[in-house]
Amino acid sequence: MVASYERGLAEVGDGVFAYLQPDGGWGWSNAGLVSDGEATLLIDTLFDLELTEAMLAEMRGAVPAAAQIGTLVNTHANGDHCYGNSLLSGARIVASEGTAAEMSELPPAAMAALVEQAPNMGRLGEFFLRCFGRFDFEGIEPALPGETFSGELELRVGDRDVSLIEVGPAHTRGDTMAWLPSERVLFTGDILFNGAHPIAWAGPVSNWLAACERIEALAPEAIVPGHGPLAGIGDVRELRDYLNHLYGQARHAHAEGLTPLQAARRFELDRWADWGERERLVVNIANVYAELDGAEPPNALEAFQQMAELALGEEPAG
Ligand SMILES: [Zn+2]
Repeated sequence: MVASYERGLAEVGDGVFAYLQPDGGWGWSNAGLVSDGEATLLIDTLFDLELTEAMLAEMRGAVPAAAQIGTLVNTHANGDHCYGNSLLSGARIVASEGTAAEMSELPPAAMAALVEQAPNMGRLGEFFLRCFGRFDFEGIEPALPGETFSGELELRVGDRDVSLIEVGPAHTRGDTMAWLPSERVLFTGDILFNGAHPIAWAGPVSNWLAACERIEALAPEAIVPGHGPLAGIGDVRELRDYLNHLYGQARHAHAEGLTPLQAARRFELDRWADWGERERLVVNIANVYAELDGAEPPNALEAFQQMAELALGEEPAG
């Protein structure tokens, strides 16, 4: 459960804005805008065209220069951070190599097809619609990055510096954060879900812990998470502690011979009991198992099947 917060633009530094979408659950992602009054940089688009257009309209209202956004950065490949890209015609699109490669694997048309098929897919389909049934993926053209990097990339937005810092693979293969050293504002992408369970699609979780340490070393004054309300360094410490707790519990369950689903059902949530999207636990546990076994983590379909089982398995059918 997340403290209530408002949808829309919030200025987090001089000319630096977060765009927030409560409640931060599945698909309800945040984005960012950096402007010096003339040049503009957008950090992430939203899950569908309608949501992205509403965001861009609000940005143009606050910052006239946002009528022609010069640079778009995608923090990672999940559709809730890049499916609106096609509305940014004329912008250069920048992402890490890992992100660019992953982005072409699940295009919007594939999500539209899955939503259409979901009613015939049993519990998996029911869970999928619960997560994504509110979004409109029909007719979205993908727009992929034309410029890639690995490691770090320094960008200029007029007279402002923006450092892109790749910390993946963790949530996805190419997770990237955007850091404004002068304003001390950090956009984490989905390295931070504030008030909800993270989900390790890629992992390993050890990389995610290293990302938390990297954030703490930067000592940002304002943190815009990929989902959830504006955050502070304390929220990053909470995530680091959660990931360590996850490691401990998952190692123990692995040694006992429990399946990830059994381990998730028994998981002691401790002080994270009120975090949203608890079903992600099973994917995170499976990711630690894969690391321990030297195996591949579950693919997205297997992950959704396990989450559907955890989320709906205890509910009566129907
Ligand atoms: Zn996301």
